[in-house]
Amino acid sequence: MITRLSLSLLCFLISFAACGEQADDADNSCLEVTLTGTQGGPPVVNGLAGAGTLVRYGSVANDCSDILLQFDVGRGTSQSLSELAVSSRQIDAVFLTHMHSDHTEGLAGLLLNRWHFLGGPIDVVCSADAKASKPPPERVMSCANLLTHLADAMIESGEIAQRHAENKKRDPAGPAALVRQQLTALPLPDKPGHVVWESGDVSVTAVGATHIAGSLAYRVDTPAGSVVIGGDAGNSKRSPPRDSSTSETVELLAAGADVLVHSTIHPVFAPGRGSKFPPPVYYRQSNVTDLGAMGRRAGVSHLMLTHLIPSLNTPSHGPFVVPGGPLGADDFESAAREGGFEGTIHVGRDLRTLRLP
Ligand SMILES: [Zn+2]
Repeated sequence: MITRLSLSLLCFLISFAACGEQADDADNSCLEVTLTGTQGGPPVVNGLAGAGTLVRYGSVANDCSDILLQFDVGRGTSQSLSELAVSSRQIDAVFLTHMHSDHTEGLAGLLLNRWHFLGGPIDVVCSADAKASKPPPERVMSCANLLTHLADAMIESGEIAQRHAENKKRDPAGPAALVRQQLTALPLPDKPGHVVWESGDVSVTAVGATHIAGSLAYRVDTPAGSVVIGGDAGNSKRSPPRDSSTSETVELLAAGADVLVHSTIHPVFAPGRGSKFPPPVYYRQSNVTDLGAMGRRAGVSHLMLTHLIPSLNTPSHGPFVVPGGPLGADDFESAAREGGFEGTIHVGRDLRTLRLP
């Protein structure tokens, strides 16, 4: 709503004719946000796919499918996309929030499939090499290396050469050759507005976030609405005492957005409550109550909770037992309400979809 309002205002300032065109765009276009995977962290639970969000924008006539953007590519993303009848060749760009495998391990499969079936080049947006803040030992999180070596195992096994021999149209260098690396230099200004990808009416901006080195959060703005993908962001102050567990930069990015998609952890996993979940890992996520408060402050209409820790209806998260027994969607929703969020809450399950307007 706010996007449409501000567009109208902008058009009014430019000219009445442009205003009419933009209003048409807004009326005839749509934005669809689908959680392709809602599993939080490395555990494998109940067939859930790893973290990922598909954002589709386009005309109503084309079912919002002119531009397809995939944010994070956890395990099983290709299967989730297939359930939406979206092929690997249709994705216009991939955006990675950070270099944890629960967000990246489906990328090789997605791009192998695209390579196999002769799909074209694809933009992959992520951060440039980022040094971890606390050496020694010195560590670098490198999306560039991930992308360059994406299918090295299949090259080494001989498969890439074998399949290339069968069809010379396949690039002999393998899936990595399809990737146009769009590496965002760090640090980014805390102030939102840094554009990392654009096409027609769609622009994607990013901010740096605290989780691990090189973490980014993204915002997609379209005439049909706006969505923020917070990833696993947490507060820049890594442990209490602090005002909130949520990210200050993601809050700025989310101001006035229609939808906030964010990873979350339930306070039942807080230190001292019996789960034995590692405190530093708990503290580097946004807990769901704080996320409800942040959503309210940012004025978002829809809060989509994903990457749920613990997963719904399961007695343990990996080796960590859920104190008091399995949690349901109501437990996450009520915790977000405790934070004061009054908009619509969508507790993540795979393929949950929200369409705007
Ligand atoms: Zn994660």
